[in-house]
Amino acid sequence: MNRKALHPENIRLTVIVACYNEELMVEMFYRTVVRYVKKYDYRFIFIDDGSKDETLSILQKLSNEDPLVAYISLSRNFGQPNALKAGYDFATDADCVISMDADLQHPPDKIDLLVAKWQDGFDIVNTVRAVQMDGALNRRIFAKLFYRFVNIISTTQILADGPDYRLVDRKVVSALAEFKESTPYLKEIIPWMGFNCTAVPVNIESRSYGESKYSFLKLISLSLRGITSFSVSPLRLSSFVGVGLSFMSFLYGIYAIYVHLFTDQTVQGWTSIIASVLFISGIQMLMLGIIGEYLGKTFLASKRRPAYLVKEIRDVSFSRSVEHK
Ligand code: UDP
Ligand code: MG
Repeated sequence: MNRKALHPENIRLTVIVACYNEELMVEMFYRTVVRYVKKYDYRFIFIDDGSKDETLSILQKLSNEDPLVAYISLSRNFGQPNALKAGYDFATDADCVISMDADLQHPPDKIDLLVAKWQDGFDIVNTVRAVQMDGALNRRIFAKLFYRFVNIISTTQILADGPDYRLVDRKVVSALAEFKESTPYLKEIIPWMGFNCTAVPVNIESRSYGESKYSFLKLISLSLRGITSFSVSPLRLSSFVGVGLSFMSFLYGIYAIYVHLFTDQTVQGWTSIIASVLFISGIQMLMLGIIGEYLGKTFLASKRRPAYLVKEIRDVSFSRSVEHK
């Protein structure tokens, strides 16, 4: 298929949107974004990530109104990465798939640019923040430090500061379907996959209604989950700390022997023993904790649970649209 020669109306474009308690935003999102995708052979797949508000009934309404709106309702809240994974799994018949947040923070006027890059031959078109990210100062600093730290310790570069606003080609979508992880972390999986990638800068708007679904604590827990799901460097940390501590105690041992043999003082005991015992047991606990984290992950992964469960679905496939090659 020659992408370059494709006319917009022949491009099968699916927009996938994870929604969690987005009753205030989702309809406005649809009405706004549909104006930008009308010229394509578009579909929407909304993934209701176990919302507790009226999100699902709004999706049902939109779907009745526009036959090109599909939705998947998950059995409970599985988290945004899992919800997006569900969206990709149901979008395998599209030529390209764009993922967006439901809160209109991702500017839809960039859709044409994403598609143009795809037509230029790129299989993954990421977006990067052109300006400061939204949110409280501590959150911004935290996110920056987090990504910097992660990229130092991990071998695959993860998408620093990259919003989940990206276009992927159908080959990427089929490749994603091969990933059976129960906690898929797209920000790491996408760069790991390879393919022809590019990125375009976008301005991330601030949320107009509702609030961020991530509390600071949820963000920290997501980050830890992120780090330990694609890097084993923390495990290596225990070896380094172990070597460092042994070296230090070796030096101290030599000093103690020296004092014992060549001076008539004795090494002062209690305080230094207590301090070092507490210090070392603290370090040991930390390392056990890290090992435990991985052990737990391995345990959970060994159960091979699905990444999400579907409660209700309304599918719209491209099979009815005109076949083109
Ligand atoms: N989201 C989701 N499941 C969750 C949390 C969030 O599907 O458990 C969706 C949410 O509805 C939104 C997107 O993920 O469409 C991004 O969430 P949010 O805007 O709260 O994150 P932020 O922009 O603050 O990073
Ligand atoms: Mg948001």
